[in-house]
Amino acid sequence: MSSSITGNPKSLFGALSDETYRAERHASASNPGPKNLALMQLNPNSDVPPPTDHGVVEPFWYSFDLTHRRVQEGGWTHQVTTRELPASKDIAGVNMRLTKGSFRELHWHLADEWAIMLSGKARVTVFTPDGAMFIDDVSEGDLWLFPAGAPHSIQALGEEGCEFLLVFNQGNFSEESTLLLSDWLKHTPPEILQRNFGLPIESIAKLPKGEPLYIFSSQEPEKSLDEEVAEVARHAAKPKMSYTFKASTMKPTKEGEAGNVKVVDSRNFPASQKIASAIVTVKPGCMREMHWHPNGSEWQYWLKGKGRMTVFPGQEAARTMDFNANDVGFVSNMAGHYIENTGDEDLVFLEMFVALEFQEISLNRWLRALPEQAARAHTNLTAAEIRKIPEGDRPLLR
Ligand code: MN
Ligand code: MN
Repeated sequence: MSSSITGNPKSLFGALSDETYRAERHASASNPGPKNLALMQLNPNSDVPPPTDHGVVEPFWYSFDLTHRRVQEGGWTHQVTTRELPASKDIAGVNMRLTKGSFRELHWHLADEWAIMLSGKARVTVFTPDGAMFIDDVSEGDLWLFPAGAPHSIQALGEEGCEFLLVFNQGNFSEESTLLLSDWLKHTPPEILQRNFGLPIESIAKLPKGEPLYIFSSQEPEKSLDEEVAEVARHAAKPKMSYTFKASTMKPTKEGEAGNVKVVDSRNFPASQKIASAIVTVKPGCMREMHWHPNGSEWQYWLKGKGRMTVFPGQEAARTMDFNANDVGFVSNMAGHYIENTGDEDLVFLEMFVALEFQEISLNRWLRALPEQAARAHTNLTAAEIRKIPEGDRPLLR
């Protein structure tokens, strides 16, 4: 059986010198039985946790690369929801690929849909209750927000097609349970379709039958974006706001030598009233500082690079895990956490919240803002030492 050290390091090893402690720890962590070496190598901080880890923290790691991939002509999809990651009750994620010209079928659902393009280009449409049709093209790094109930489509543009990540403000969301146009048509009596559309039965007979379309291959649009915008303006109202956000060309909200943070929420992307985000880039050797969020749990998607995170939910519990690209992380409401770039390239990840605005509490800013006597009394540090703690808004540290 595998063994790992989860006891209080102080009580286990407190009386030992540093050197003896390391040797003892090494012996105690020996692991002669069966093991899944690939998983252990992916997650060294689970295999041999830092001695500061302790107690029970609910699982906060999953990977899209462990999920079933629904592949059909035109692309594929897979998802990480409460079924895979039970702690995440507010947010679910879907990763989807569309090949050249392929569509994600016209549909709607109960949750709001936030998205980031991971590769390639797409043309999206969303129809809102005021009768407006919004159309735009998005590229790698750009976002969209489709409000709950507003029907929408996504079509891949260009030779390489596209891939994107969808984030829903509903933990038990399922891509298998969206409301599809072809599904509804198939389940409506033909005479009702005739009356509703004012079409003869020969026309109704052409409508799609069999399995719902869901993802299907098609031709790329013949018209340019401008031409399609002009075309729909003849039949639909003009959109009052944009449902896309060009995060790829956005100036970072915060930037320093350790990386940058792009905050996108209702303040700069008014369509996104219920989902707030931060797109974080951490340079090699740098870290996202110790902090927490006062307004919701954090759902993460790791786009690039690798890192480790310790989550501290209180009650003497803490757990450290490693993350790689295409992994999902989760931080329960209010839990303290940091993220360290453990690789040799930029680490890029998303911090997602069901919230109007992105909010955080920085441990450093808090300690520096306290009256000096209070800070000294709690830390045993001198005033001079406390003044060395970074001050100001510095979410990323060298
Ligand atoms: Mn959708
Ligand atoms: Mn965070």
